[in-house]
Amino acid sequence: MDLLQIKFWEAGDYRPGTKGHERRCSWGGSSCPSPAELTVTDRAGADNGACAVHVVHYIRDRLRHGR
Ligand SMILES: [Zn+2]
Repeated sequence: MDLLQIKFWEAGDYRPGTKGHERRCSWGGSSCPSPAELTVTDRAGADNGACAVHVVHYIRDRLRHGR
């Protein structure tokens, strides 16, 4: 798996059970009100919507832990 897996958000890019189906950021947790702008792939291979702020959290996590 690549260290960073990021692409533009597309409808349907969300992990079941998250609020991605509302086209909102799910990477930032339940308190983030922002719309999903990018899609990031978690360690399990699931797609998650991320806003412009929380995609940076994803990048930090991957750089720190090596995916
Ligand atoms: Zn967010």
